[in-house]
Amino acid sequence: MKAIDPGATVADWRNWKWQLRHCVRDTETFEKWMEVPFGMEQRRRFEMTEAKFPISITPYYLSLINNTENEMSFDPVFRQCFPSPLELNVVTDDMADPLHEDRDSPVQGVTHRYPDRILFLVSNMCAMYCRHCTRKRRVGDADSIPTQKEIMEGLDYIRQTPRIRDVLLSGGDPLMLSDDYLGWILSELRSIRHIEIIRIGTRTPVVLPYRITDNLVSILKKYHPLWLNTHFNHPRELTGSSRAALNKLANAGIPLGNQSVLLAGVNDCTHIMRTLVNALAANRVRPYYLYQCDLSEGLSHFRTPIGKGIEIMESLIGHTSGLCVPTYVIDAPGGGGKIPVMPNYLISWSPTKVVLRNYEGVITTYKEPDTYEPIICNRDCTSCVLQHENDDTEDYKALGIGKLLDDYDKTISLIPADNERHARRDLQG
Ligand SMILES: *Cc1c(COP(=O)(O)O)cnc(C)c1O
Repeated sequence: MKAIDPGATVADWRNWKWQLRHCVRDTETFEKWMEVPFGMEQRRRFEMTEAKFPISITPYYLSLINNTENEMSFDPVFRQCFPSPLELNVVTDDMADPLHEDRDSPVQGVTHRYPDRILFLVSNMCAMYCRHCTRKRRVGDADSIPTQKEIMEGLDYIRQTPRIRDVLLSGGDPLMLSDDYLGWILSELRSIRHIEIIRIGTRTPVVLPYRITDNLVSILKKYHPLWLNTHFNHPRELTGSSRAALNKLANAGIPLGNQSVLLAGVNDCTHIMRTLVNALAANRVRPYYLYQCDLSEGLSHFRTPIGKGIEIMESLIGHTSGLCVPTYVIDAPGGGGKIPVMPNYLISWSPTKVVLRNYEGVITTYKEPDTYEPIICNRDCTSCVLQHENDDTEDYKALGIGKLLDDYDKTISLIPADNERHARRDLQG
């Protein structure tokens, strides 16, 4: 701390604004503060990388790097925050915006991909620039700072779209906004009748836990039901300070979730993952998603085969509490959304029995009921004995695979719009 700011006190260290003022933003400062001189050639390669993808590391997160025994380059904290020249390797399948967030965007800053919920990018700032950021294309890009006018347009879109019941604030990091500004956005969202839940996605509990101040928490808890998802990737990130931040949030009645990214050389290990998910649950954080690393540019060195993720899920399911098991998802390139993948537990079936295996490899059977009377749904909920007293009943049309399963929908197959065989048929009339 003294190396960073000679006059600094412990109170300064715990002040999030002091932390932000003293972020490491170049290789030279990193070398000086960490006392690790790089060679000329090494420094040149780091500087080339940071020219394309800038650096920002909070002093707090920097202090978690283990720089003893020259093992820094294998350190999971170092790998998440310090540039690697491998980021400049753009491989053929990499894309600037693999999730097509910009294309599924009715107004600037809003991605409306799923029927009932949206992603609302309200900040383009982050305390720490994760090297594995899926929105790397935008990091530090002054042009994409959302203006208040853009945020108001986003709010108007939400107000005019009653199907949206869940708004996910993301960025950038929404907690980089000032308390007052964030409070204003939250109060605007809460004034919209159809918004049931508000979610915040933030990495501050991991990289800047001092951001979780009493004042911030007192603002957040005015806008319940409010959920918060954070982003721990390694058990080493659960320090005393980050646990204290999580504790404050949980005590304010904010349900906490965690979204990890599976990263080569950081957490691609069944033991690390089990330790992480158990430690999260012990701190009242529910592991929510484990993401397969996206196809964004400059991330190829972080990608693992999907088999690694399935192996990790195999090591969790049944071996630890169901509460500790995240859903492993691949965010489909092209904007298809999150697709869950799992080991197979259903081995085979007949009309009377299914054959299953458990986590130990025990193979077992479940006998299907002999007398089940299927309920044929004609979507007339007002006369349906199951639904008519449920005032939340709404007659949604079947969507996707649901169309194929629906009793009254006549669709028997889903066919890609560019299917050649069907185009020929249409020509023949
Ligand atoms: C992830 C995501 C959501 C939220 O998805 P959940 O599965 O409900 O957590 C919403 N919109 C977009 C564009 C997303 O990428």
